[in-house]
Amino acid sequence: MEKFLRDIGLKQNQHVMIHAAYRKIRREFPGLNIEDFLRIIQDIITPEGSVILATFSYCFAKVNEPSKIYNPDETPSKVGAVSEVFRKMPEVIRTASATHSFALWGRASGEIQPDNAPESPLGEGSVLEWLSRQQDAFILMLGTDFLSLSFCHYLETMAPVPWHDTFPWAYLGIRPAGVSIKGEQELHEVPGCSKSFVNFENYLLNRKIIHPFRYHSLFGYFIHVGLLLEHGLSFFRSRPLELLCPKNQCSACDSRRQNKIKK
Ligand SMILES: [Zn+2]
Repeated sequence: MEKFLRDIGLKQNQHVMIHAAYRKIRREFPGLNIEDFLRIIQDIITPEGSVILATFSYCFAKVNEPSKIYNPDETPSKVGAVSEVFRKMPEVIRTASATHSFALWGRASGEIQPDNAPESPLGEGSVLEWLSRQQDAFILMLGTDFLSLSFCHYLETMAPVPWHDTFPWAYLGIRPAGVSIKGEQELHEVPGCSKSFVNFENYLLNRKIIHPFRYHSLFGYFIHVGLLLEHGLSFFRSRPLELLCPKNQCSACDSRRQNKIKK
């Protein structure tokens, strides 16, 4: 695993956001547990760089039933086994956002405060904004595609796409507010559906702007954040409709499309 990661470009002092599907990693690296996998990455990057994982728990205020209350020390991550192990590792801090928290290690954990909980969860003031401002920032995707690329939600707020502030989840019985042990916080620019981010992925692939790597059945990307910002802002501004699911297939995307027509 260490040689593999070095071969795809992982180096010391980089700030790296990781999206990893452990089931797919285990198939090619049998016997490697999640903690060892993360320690290998930390050893390569060193504490001068940063390891960042999303630990979203989606503790939104519910309309008709009691809300789940986010506690950074206890609430499990809902975005994968790797993030759930990482948030409990030594010297890792977890941010206070009730809906879209991150676990941080290395320089990010010193520069981003644990009480980080911006009103725009993945926009201005967020961990993703911090990442976008670092020179040596990368996104490592192992066994996942752009469906799980949270950075695209930051691009939605930056572009901004026409529905950046349309809350698309009302049909689930929730409100645009996060609920944590510190109380309730109104939110705006709540991230929507990410299924169509694969259209942006295909756009980058077709133009050979990004190059996937393969290790037997394990597929992924190691992408410079500056590259995603540059091509993402241009794509998100010129072709926003391609970031929504086709009509009548997804309530969240339909509500956003409807709002754009009204505007
Ligand atoms: Zn959708």
